[in-house]
Amino acid sequence: MFPDVKLHIAGHWRAGAGGDTLPILNPATGETLGRLACATRADLDEALEALARGFAAWRAVSAFERGKVLRKAAGLMRERAETIARLMSLEQGKPLAEARIETAVAADIMEWFAEEGRRAYGRVIPARADGVLQIVVREPVGPVAAFTPWNFPINQAVRKLSAALCTGCPVILKGPEDTPASCAELVRAFLDAGVPGDALALVFGEPAEISGYLIPHPVIRKITFTGSTAVGKQLAALAGQHMKRATMELGGHAPAIVFDDADVETAVRVLSANKYRNAGQVCVAPTRFLVQEKVYDRFVDGFVAVSKGLKVGPGLEEVTQMGPLIHARRLEAMEALVADANEKGATLRTGGKRIGNQGHFFEPTVFTDVPLEARLMNEEPFGPIAAIRRFSRDEEALEEANRLPYGLAAYAYTRSAERATRVGSQVEAGMVSINHHGIALPETPFGGVKDSGYGSEGGSEAIEAYLTTKFVTQASF
Ligand code: NAD
Repeated sequence: MFPDVKLHIAGHWRAGAGGDTLPILNPATGETLGRLACATRADLDEALEALARGFAAWRAVSAFERGKVLRKAAGLMRERAETIARLMSLEQGKPLAEARIETAVAADIMEWFAEEGRRAYGRVIPARADGVLQIVVREPVGPVAAFTPWNFPINQAVRKLSAALCTGCPVILKGPEDTPASCAELVRAFLDAGVPGDALALVFGEPAEISGYLIPHPVIRKITFTGSTAVGKQLAALAGQHMKRATMELGGHAPAIVFDDADVETAVRVLSANKYRNAGQVCVAPTRFLVQEKVYDRFVDGFVAVSKGLKVGPGLEEVTQMGPLIHARRLEAMEALVADANEKGATLRTGGKRIGNQGHFFEPTVFTDVPLEARLMNEEPFGPIAAIRRFSRDEEALEEANRLPYGLAAYAYTRSAERATRVGSQVEAGMVSINHHGIALPETPFGGVKDSGYGSEGGSEAIEAYLTTKFVTQASF
């Protein structure tokens, strides 16, 4: 049974004041799974009033006690993992195994922030005069407006909610309309664990209307958004206009450099798994494969073989390795990228078409010798299409890696310590992973540079985003 999904406002799960709903669709079949409540302006106002009260209450709870609540929420996620993972697989399309991992990782993230929130230490600065005490205090920034997308309905939200809540900030989350049920279960776990109802709101509706109202609203002190660079720039501009702190986790077009001294089999195995994870709808997916001449054919043959062998199907079928795309717009986007790459002279090695006419399935697709002018080499594909190019000199690969305005993740495979060091220091990206896929752990920074955004959603840097710095100086009589 798939639930209808409600809003959470001022401690109550309820319908929107206008009674409007949206269908929740199964991307594997196109069928309606349930209905989603949409928020009106009046609903947002009620949520914001509650959030202001929730801030006073939640910041007064000690970091130690807040940590206990977050740990309890992690326990609830683990208890409910199987049900939540099934909802996620149904509404998002990802294989059940991936949905189970996402749910389990969410609990790890909650636990990590439960601990880290207790370490938002201030400091004492030695004074110039006797009897003066100078202290630096970290305080919660205030009510947060968070906006999260459909590709990781829980993971994108849990990072924001955990970091905000552990530091004493209440949150209004505008969740993903395409995948609301699993996201709502995450919110429920926090509430059931003891986060006050006034301190955590969940709303859905028309994204631009909601962000356009929340960001300038005086109750909101901090914005955090995950989504496309185009939308992120609009929201960041609005946040700037109203002097609101912002974290922007935006698009990427990750280069994956395979040097001629690489362990090619490992590179093929790890990079292909991460290319096709979540049907390629991952902001840190490797997407521009730059392979050195000597190992080019071996890498391409291996990558194409994996791509041809992938079992594509509904997420809930145990044999499925790659599910459907989220909605029809992504299918159209894939078809346009394929047509353009063909037109520009790239070689299609496998895939390139929609599968069947039910659901949003697309073939794992590999293009080789893709010209730089092809859209595929310039726009984030956000789908199961890999673009492979050859290079001869190391400098060419580094230059290509840094050519685009994006700077989220980058990958490299080499046995040379010197090459690894050069990649680590010269590639312009927020995260660089060499000889393995080692990013996105709760304790490590997660974020981009350039058009991929700013701020971090992991590690101690993530907590910083929710804290203000207050300097207090006090002279004794
Ligand atoms: P989209 O731009 O319509 O939506 C992407 C996300 O942003 C959705 O969750 C949507 O609700 C939200 N959004 C859109 N406009 C908004 C606004 N004005 N205010 C607040 N939220 C808003 O695109 P789409 O067709 O759903 O996805 C396509 C593109 O989005 C992809 O190509 C990819 O670049 C990007 N995307 C990125 C991530 C990520 O993890 N960085 C996740 C999902 C989508």
